[in-house]
Amino acid sequence: MKTVGIIGGMSYQSTLHYYQRINEQVNEKLGGLASAKLLIYNVDFEEIRKLMIEEKWQSIGNILLEISRKLEQFGVDYIAIATNTIHKVASFLEENISIPLIHISDCVAKKCIENNIKKVGVLGTRYTMTEEFVIDRLRRNGLETFTPNDISDILTIDNIIFYELCKGVIKNSSKKIYINIINNMIKKYGIEGIIFGCTEIEMLISEKELSIPVFDTTKEHINTIVEHIVEKR
Ligand code: GLU
Repeated sequence: MKTVGIIGGMSYQSTLHYYQRINEQVNEKLGGLASAKLLIYNVDFEEIRKLMIEEKWQSIGNILLEISRKLEQFGVDYIAIATNTIHKVASFLEENISIPLIHISDCVAKKCIENNIKKVGVLGTRYTMTEEFVIDRLRRNGLETFTPNDISDILTIDNIIFYELCKGVIKNSSKKIYINIINNMIKKYGIEGIIFGCTEIEMLISEKELSIPVFDTTKEHINTIVEHIVEKR
């Protein structure tokens, strides 16, 4: 069995799902009392969030690099960052560590392509929706991506993530807002699928509430992490 080092806590609401589901899936695959070899480094999200607001991404990169190196010293075979937004520093980590990073965008893009879906909407934090670090990675994987272009929609989606979902608050009114934005994107861009590009969105909406397939970064990241843990090589 391989060991994966997960950098989590952003937010802990979704890292909980990583811990539970990775163990469940490893046990399903291997049987008996098998559980996953994992090292989870849970950051203080308040500290990271302050740096995000101040746009101090190099400081975030340095914190994550230090954590990755510690995980590397513990002997993990792979690193995974349990959030989309913090993949803004993924290339910096990839350049400075010697073990592979399981990139969340590659995992979800692969699933879209396998399902023959190329024209996708992407919902996430304002960083994820308005900057290139996720969008470009999805495009390089062969997807055509669309994000809401109304700034008030972008800020509403972002506020719901940070002020509700990251605190475990699930509101029906927010669910309706998300569904409405997705339906508008279907009408406007003809998207064939929607990527939940934030690891907490799956707590708010499910595929059965939508008319197009959902590609959830949390689910696909977890599935790929499990494949790496149980791989025989
Ligand atoms: N977990 C979220 C994501 O997947 C947002 C919180 C964060 O900024 O890390 O992007």
